[in-house]
Amino acid sequence: MCGSIRTPRTSTSVTAAKRVVVVGAGLAGLASAIRLAAAGVHVTVIERGTRPGGKMGRREIGPYRWDSGPTIFTLPELFDQLWSAAGATRSDDLTLLPVEPASRTFFADGSVLETSSDLTKLAASFGALDPRDAAGIPAFMRRGEKLWRELDQTFFRKTLSPLSLLAPMSWLAGIRLDAATPYSRRINQTFHDERIRHVMRYKSIYLGSTPQSVPGAFLSIPYIEAKFGTWHPEGGMHEAPLAMERLARRLGVEFRYGTDAIGSVIRDKRISALRIAPRSAQPRTLGTGPAAPNQPGEERIEADAVLFNADIVHANRDLIGEENLGALSRQRFKRITPSSSAYILHLGVKRTFPDLAHHTVWHPENPNDELDRIISSPVPSGDPTLYIQHVAATDLTARLDGRTALYVLTPVPPLKDRRWWEEHRDEYRAATIKRVCERIGLKPEEIEEQADWTPLEFEREQYCHDGSIFALAASFFQSAYFRPANASPDIANAFFAGGGSQPGGGIPLVMLSGYIASRTILKRLGLPLPPSEAGQIF
Ligand SMILES: Cc1cc2nc3c(=O)[nH]c(=O)nc-3n(C[C@H](O)[C@H](O)[C@H](O)COP(=O)(O)OP(=O)(O)OC[C@H]3O[C@@H](n4cnc5c(N)ncnc54)[C@H](O)[C@@H]3O)c2cc1C
Repeated sequence: MCGSIRTPRTSTSVTAAKRVVVVGAGLAGLASAIRLAAAGVHVTVIERGTRPGGKMGRREIGPYRWDSGPTIFTLPELFDQLWSAAGATRSDDLTLLPVEPASRTFFADGSVLETSSDLTKLAASFGALDPRDAAGIPAFMRRGEKLWRELDQTFFRKTLSPLSLLAPMSWLAGIRLDAATPYSRRINQTFHDERIRHVMRYKSIYLGSTPQSVPGAFLSIPYIEAKFGTWHPEGGMHEAPLAMERLARRLGVEFRYGTDAIGSVIRDKRISALRIAPRSAQPRTLGTGPAAPNQPGEERIEADAVLFNADIVHANRDLIGEENLGALSRQRFKRITPSSSAYILHLGVKRTFPDLAHHTVWHPENPNDELDRIISSPVPSGDPTLYIQHVAATDLTARLDGRTALYVLTPVPPLKDRRWWEEHRDEYRAATIKRVCERIGLKPEEIEEQADWTPLEFEREQYCHDGSIFALAASFFQSAYFRPANASPDIANAFFAGGGSQPGGGIPLVMLSGYIASRTILKRLGLPLPPSEAGQIF
């Protein structure tokens, strides 16, 4: 049974002639490729890296193995839906382990808060800080469920245009979804204890944004964690894209790694071919337009449609080219507000940590200062929130003989002054190591491997504009109707899936982006649509 494909949804004979090229093997690129291939489309994925997953990558040094991007995995039901759309079963390819406690947070005043998807444990944890917040959990869950159900029927399942705002129904949906209430205000109205409020407000960082700028509908995020749990793919987060790639290959998807998309051949507002070339040793300067013609090894791939999973600003400015964009898009992609970024430090240490949770966070004395300035500050905070992922707490395959792989993350602003990271990288790394040692009682001499990754690498390796890790900040005017749609308004056969397009960034939303984009393409190509998956997760 393992790895089998049961029922192709669509007759391939009807669709064999259609060809889609996907630029980027990030989660949304993989999800789209799988869905299109399951519908009988011939799909080729172009990826500049050497493996699938994009931000959901992996680093290996000696016996150590670390995740290199996301660590919090929610809504596995979206992966189940993907496998099922391909006539397969997710658990045959990917094992998910529950993470318990979901997180442990330490505050500067010495207090601790654990979260859990076991609501009895969550109530005990909240109640220890403020009994009113334990009593408020049922109301929070009811509100979260209402938001989630509405989102999963509407905004998360179709591409939206600002023109839809002309319809009164859209305004009514916006009211139901609390769109005009800032997330921070909604959290302050829902919870009483300042520490619980901060843990909840801090979830806006999952969208790379500040809690004031994110709409109230994002209360659905803590609801989703509490309702559907927090998970870890056995073997590491990167196992998820590896499993997706295997599924895609079984459906006939072709992958070309180490290959850069460098521009498009555009005629009559359509891409007739995508320009590709072997990955160049020198990264491109983003925002400077398509590569000059006749690059070494350049090829052209013809396609009925091109789906850009690569960063949306890079795709529009450097792969489609500003000269092919309408005036609105040209302005938009010059003025976009990027999401926050991250500094990542991988430590391989010669000891174990029996009491360290899977996800642990230490907040600084004035946590709001850092959070409120996470987009606008020109340089990282001198007293950042510290996060450590310790997968060995959950995953037996990560338990090394007397050694531990620790993944350390501090949230940092997107790139403004590139020289800052060039000049201060070593200093920032030393300060982060010092903080880690103080927090978990690690001795510097116990560290045998270390490697870091700054916003500069997000920009140079994965072409993320300004090193942003969620592409666009999820502010009111960059969310829902105002976020770039999954179909280009300028080029008839160009489509987008991933953190920068609708519905947004983060694992669940980019999986949904792949769902929306693949259906938008099938519709545009005149192919039959598979059954809707909206409203089935509750
Ligand atoms: C440090 C970090 C922590 C995070 N934490 C979480 C978390 O805990 N939970 C969560 O849900 N989300 C988290 N996220 C966000 C989540 O990882 C992303 O939203 C998601 O993985 C992005 O997927 P994507 O489909 O947009 O593609 P991406 O992962 O952005 O992949 C795009 C791909 O396109 C390729 N590409 C770009 N340009 C070209 C080109 N010209 N030619 C060929 N290929 C190209 C890139 O190499 C890349 O592989 C985190 C992200 C980071 C970086």
